[in-house]
Amino acid sequence: MALSFSRLSKLLEWLDLDRSELPYACDDSPSFPLRVTRDFASRMHRRDAYDPLLLQVLPLLQESAVVDGYSQDPVGDMNASVSQGVLQKYNGRALLITTPACAIHCRYCFRRHFPYQQQHLDQQLSDQTMEKLNVPDISEIILSGGDPLTLNDQRLTQLLSQLKQLPHLKRLRIHTRMPVILPSRVTPELVEMLRNFPLPVTTVLHINHPNELDKSVATALHQLRHSNTHMLNQAVLLKGINDKTEILKALCEKGFDMGILPYYVHQLDKVHGSAHFQVSRERALEIEEQLRKQLPGYLLPRFVTEIAGEESKMPLGMF
Ligand SMILES: *Cc1c(COP(=O)(O)O)cnc(C)c1O
Ligand code: SF4
Repeated sequence: MALSFSRLSKLLEWLDLDRSELPYACDDSPSFPLRVTRDFASRMHRRDAYDPLLLQVLPLLQESAVVDGYSQDPVGDMNASVSQGVLQKYNGRALLITTPACAIHCRYCFRRHFPYQQQHLDQQLSDQTMEKLNVPDISEIILSGGDPLTLNDQRLTQLLSQLKQLPHLKRLRIHTRMPVILPSRVTPELVEMLRNFPLPVTTVLHINHPNELDKSVATALHQLRHSNTHMLNQAVLLKGINDKTEILKALCEKGFDMGILPYYVHQLDKVHGSAHFQVSRERALEIEEQLRKQLPGYLLPRFVTEIAGEESKMPLGMF
């Protein structure tokens, strides 16, 4: 992670892109800083200003535009906080903000303005947090963040050993981009730790474009499967990046080759700074319809949208 790009000029230089010739205006000092690993950057095409991986991380001046309907907390995370670092919106599931850190900064991230200082867990889950989680209604814990796999193995071991003590827990879920963004994070120690967890573990990856998947990712995912984790993928529908049927079809198929089943395609959450990525609902439904005609049922992601206050993610077709 220390080798990641955090300066725009370095990233552009590496990609052999001349700033003065770019078809859009970049932001040199965005409040949500540039960050991308060399692994991810190495899958971008050189001299392509519209590379779908580059567009996910490139800070644009456009992000500062104030757009109607876009806000700091589009999905009502703050109202869902039941204790520091614990969000609960849905029956049976509690989500832990394990860390503010990510190995990549995705420009469309719905938590890009999240007040992590106030809302992340302590090193050790406090008695108060353990009490909140130790209720029959919570049968699944979701490790989120930030990216939970940016925590080191010692912190993860500690966290898992605390969660293991919850008598009502039936499943553990990890939401992470790390196996894709930094494949070397999938160490034998991590695989062993997950394998030893006494409950079923599901890893929900976040991959938006088939170009994100290369040989190094395939190897990491192959290792991860040794931990017996189920692997699912969620993507965000992003204008100019993956808003084409062929691209999402290729993503579902390539992911499957690496052991991943599609889970969700999210309609972009209306977070301030992301309006230029929005795909219309009509276009999203059209893509969903086309995918349905081209893929077997088990390779079809569910197209969903999150509406603050609802009891689940909502099928896009319902609105
Ligand atoms: C999205 C989300 C979940 C997970 O929902 P699933 O439909 O089970 O994937 C859980 N908790 C919170 C707070 C969420 O935002
Ligand atoms: S990895 Fe996830 S949490 Fe981190 S910036 Fe990207 S979308 Fe946001």
